Amino acid sequence: MSDFCGDALSSACFPPYCSFVSSLHLNAVRQFERAADLLGLTDAHRAILASPTNEVIVNFPVSMDDGRIEVLTGYRVQHNNALGPFKGGMRFSPAVDLDEVRALATWMTFKTALVDIPFGGAKGGIAIDPRAYSAEELERIVRRFTFALGSNIGPDHDIPAPDMGTNAQTMVWMMDTYSSMASAADRHTVRRVVTGKTVATGGSRGRDKATGQGLTFVLDAWLNRTGDTIDGKRVAVQGFGNVGEHAARTLVKAGAIVVAVADHTGAIHNPDGMNPEHLWQYTSTHRGIKGAPDGEPLTEEEFWRVDCDVLIPAALENQLCADRARDIQATVVIEGANGPTTPEAEEVLEDRGITVIPDILGNAGGVTVSYFEWVQNRAGDAWTLADVDSRLRRLLHEATDETLAAAKEFACSLRDAAYVVALRRLTTVMDQRGVFP
Ligand code: NAD
Repeated sequence: MSDFCGDALSSACFPPYCSFVSSLHLNAVRQFERAADLLGLTDAHRAILASPTNEVIVNFPVSMDDGRIEVLTGYRVQHNNALGPFKGGMRFSPAVDLDEVRALATWMTFKTALVDIPFGGAKGGIAIDPRAYSAEELERIVRRFTFALGSNIGPDHDIPAPDMGTNAQTMVWMMDTYSSMASAADRHTVRRVVTGKTVATGGSRGRDKATGQGLTFVLDAWLNRTGDTIDGKRVAVQGFGNVGEHAARTLVKAGAIVVAVADHTGAIHNPDGMNPEHLWQYTSTHRGIKGAPDGEPLTEEEFWRVDCDVLIPAALENQLCADRARDIQATVVIEGANGPTTPEAEEVLEDRGITVIPDILGNAGGVTVSYFEWVQNRAGDAWTLADVDSRLRRLLHEATDETLAAAKEFACSLRDAAYVVALRRLTTVMDQRGVFP
């Protein structure tokens, strides 16, 4: 699993040569608006889904190791809970702001609807570089943030999970802090207030690899439906954190070859393929891929032009811009990150006949296994890894098939089709429940 990540984010999020620099939330709204047009949805549906239900901002003091007090700002945006409790990750990165969290929360609503799990959408975070803090400082930050959020999160109300810059340990600190504030009789039942915990503290088997494993299941389903297989596919992965590393591991297990890997420190290339376990060992000790002996170094731009069949952006948003889209060699892009492809790049890829498997499908494995964890916690149960994987595979294959069917029905892109499937579920429930009073 990856170490904390966060540095180099602020300069990397919007490369100067990427002409699309705009609101990420606006991108998210534009994406579902295209599907809303296909379905002929009303202005009321659109207005409700364009506006997050709640936006919580907390400012809280934290003691640093040297005795200073830092006042940090944390966010939790609860986008929509028509289908179930708010659900979504907590991100620690210098680029976190209200607009980014709004966009990420919006995408969560459509992701949970697409895979048909009874959750809504939310996201949160703190604008910090977690690498700049000691483990003790991070623990105090997480606990104080959880305390500041108070009853804005809850086991049947809003359930955080890990995202960029956070991990299972972060979730255990959140769970322990929230439990400590609960009544003595509820301390164990409330542990499902977060998912993505360590297995020892009530996490699900398979949650650590779930997003990468899910990406492999979705790619497998899509290739199978087009008469192809993963076997022998040459893959390039940007980001070697939780998502990228486990995508690489599960793809190689399924017969693919990882020919290029990039992270915030650099990129490497080996046309004969690289072993994800070796890469993980190197990145965990060297805090990045730069200098790994498994391949030849590449520049950042050479990475995007590398000869491969499948390209997986699994780092940050807005990484695949129009200039890069004109040069990529892959025939399919499967989004591991949230929002990695700019709208302009998407047009270039469409013109070039390159398929994009959208984030709300490609990276939905994480929230799906988070749902499994929540169910296991409710039931006081612990499923086997084989059980988790087979349930995940079934749900993601179904979501892929539904997306492909909608793409055929509307002769549209897979992104528009995925939003069509999600919007149908959301608007059915919204219409039946109506608007109170
Ligand atoms: P992480 O913090 O574990 O890893 C992030 C990776 O991105 C690191 O390898 C880092 O080096 C790399 N990176 C950072 N800046 C970069 C840059 N400028 N260029 C190249 N690489 C860079 O984060 P993660 O959990 O793997 O999340 C990655 C993406 O996947 C995010 O968009 C996140 O929202 C999304 N996602 C995560 C999960 C999950 O379960 N963790 C689920 C769904 C979606």
